Amino acid sequence: MSKIRDTDRAKRVQHVFDFWTVALGLEGSWHVSYGFVDSINNHTSFAEVHQNMPYLKATIMFDRVCLDGSTEQELEAAIVHELMHIMLSPLGQLIKDEFGSGALATDFDNALETCCDGLAEKLIYLRHGKASAYYDPQLPFNSDEKK
Ligand SMILES: [Zn+2]
Repeated sequence: MSKIRDTDRAKRVQHVFDFWTVALGLEGSWHVSYGFVDSINNHTSFAEVHQNMPYLKATIMFDRVCLDGSTEQELEAAIVHELMHIMLSPLGQLIKDEFGSGALATDFDNALETCCDGLAEKLIYLRHGKASAYYDPQLPFNSDEKK
């Protein structure tokens, strides 16, 4: 049984979450929160997002086991990936409304995963100047974040 508490997990998540929700302008449009669950797909998914579209509410749920075993780089990549899902969710809703849950919707979902990964990687590159997810709390651009 893990001794890590959700308050400890929230401390890890909060500063990365705050940076990206502000940087992406989500705090002015969506109401985004996060929480923790024991398992998402038997620990094969780091996180998933639940959206309430017409009300622009979204909750990112983190798998506790994946989160506890993650590096800061993996955590940031997961957060930005899920925020991309939130920003692109009007497209997903449109596809669902028009085509239901058929083959096109499945193809769209798969393409969306690739897009979210690609966009997250490029945005993290713009922040950190590194080709892959990278986080260093000593770098000056993190100085505005909570200690
Ligand atoms: Zn995804």
